Amino acid sequence: MSKRDFYEILGLTKSASDDEIKKAYRKLAIKYHPDKNPDDKAAEEKFKEAAEAYEVLSNPEKRQRYNQYGHAGVGGASGGGSGFGGGMNMDDIFSQFGDIFGGGGGFGGFGGSSRGGGRRVVRGSNLRVKVKLNLQEIAKGVEKKLKVNKFVNCNTCKGSGAKNGTFDTCKLCNGSGVQVRTQQTFLGAMQTQTTCSGCNGEGKTVKDKCQTCHGDGIVRAEEVISINIPAGVAEGMQLSVGGKGNAAPRGGINGDLLVLIEEEEHLELKRDGSNLFYDSYVNFADAALGTNIEIPTVDSKVKIKIEPGTQSGKVLRLKGKGLPDVNSYGTGDLLVNINVWTPQSLSAEEKKMLENLRTSKNFEPKPNRKDKGFFDRMKEYFD
Ligand SMILES: [Zn+2]
Ligand SMILES: [Zn+2]
Repeated sequence: MSKRDFYEILGLTKSASDDEIKKAYRKLAIKYHPDKNPDDKAAEEKFKEAAEAYEVLSNPEKRQRYNQYGHAGVGGASGGGSGFGGGMNMDDIFSQFGDIFGGGGGFGGFGGSSRGGGRRVVRGSNLRVKVKLNLQEIAKGVEKKLKVNKFVNCNTCKGSGAKNGTFDTCKLCNGSGVQVRTQQTFLGAMQTQTTCSGCNGEGKTVKDKCQTCHGDGIVRAEEVISINIPAGVAEGMQLSVGGKGNAAPRGGINGDLLVLIEEEEHLELKRDGSNLFYDSYVNFADAALGTNIEIPTVDSKVKIKIEPGTQSGKVLRLKGKGLPDVNSYGTGDLLVNINVWTPQSLSAEEKKMLENLRTSKNFEPKPNRKDKGFFDRMKEYFD
């Protein structure tokens, strides 16, 4: 399923102001708020969709990336699991945009909780790491092994936190894990369920704490996680690996591993999306007489022909020699800009030869103004 345009979700255009974005989001948040639409999956999806759009468009940097690259620019190709993005869960929404709801439940500790009635399932927090990739790795895709320091389940108590696996029912909430209170929000008076402070929402308390983890059920440890990075990723994209984040206290669900992509700059090949650019320099005699030159590609070299009489500024497009597109099966091109190198120091003899050529009829510039010039070439590229 492909994602809807964030502006479309909020009913706005690209030129919307920050204030309009906020207002539009609040309107949708009121309409689809889970407290107003209990057990309505469709409303929940709409609520999440709006939050995700708001999360990106309310952040100037993310908004700019989104405007430029679409969903891919903000880690947003569809799909869950170990693909990109994977949307936001309700905890993220309430913890990040709590302010827009006028306060809100206390979700803290190790991670969030899944909302809704009854006992909550504790979720481990997401783990964020950065990965720096070179152009070869981006072109081919790569498997990276990342050493991370994170919370894992305690071995001694098998993650339960209890010494002999024994628990008491929480006296504060009688095992329900929630406390109900009435709150004034901009949505009007609302009954808000908050996580029970006595048991952190678990409904039970540990009788005898495990010595190793002090009752948390989790301990810090180093783990090597191997992740597959698809070809064509770009700086700023975020890869989400489901369940590879921090373990949750006392047998909850693992958080996700979020991998932020960083790009190592290539000295010769510059990148714009899936296209690559290379500045090639040929000497004046080669440009006049024609020659073959070698052009570096991501993984090897190609020979290209320079026709006799080639002008500086000519752009040659090598089809399919760019990078794969992370969102499709396409591959970009390698654009080679030919620069004719003007000698910067000359011997007396060379000077004399050039003096003789200076007045030659053939050396007089005769540009054909009907040919594609700089302007047309730029337009062609950016269209
Ligand atoms: Zn409780
Ligand atoms: Zn333990």
